[in-house]
Amino acid sequence: MSEQALDIDGLTALAQASALVTAGCGCEIASYPGWTRTPVSFPQAHMRPAGTLAGDPYDEPTFAEYHPSGTNYWSPDAPIAIHYFPYNRCSVQQCTVCLRYCLTYVEAGGYYVEPRIRALDARLIVDAPVAD
Ligand SMILES: [Zn+2]
Repeated sequence: MSEQALDIDGLTALAQASALVTAGCGCEIASYPGWTRTPVSFPQAHMRPAGTLAGDPYDEPTFAEYHPSGTNYWSPDAPIAIHYFPYNRCSVQQCTVCLRYCLTYVEAGGYYVEPRIRALDARLIVDAPVAD
């Protein structure tokens, strides 16, 4: 199954559905409001692909980040700016047990790769275009 491209409306709908879930779950997606190294214990087998934010037709995916209110990459309240790094490289996955959604991507440094996870929060999603 190829990944479905998500626009802001599609992503927001998934985030709103996720926010309605109150049950505890072994995925602990709700405990990752900011970017976190995906724990070794993360139940990847329970995840299904729900779409992608990569392949944005805007431009080459930028490494610029979007923090108009003084947040940084790690902030739990950092905007989920879909055209900016790292969101422009993210996949969205859904836990098939609790039905929450999360963002994931693989951070590639010079000497390491590290899968990272962040819960999807509709209040933080923004569609700000990338300035040239
Ligand atoms: Zn779950």
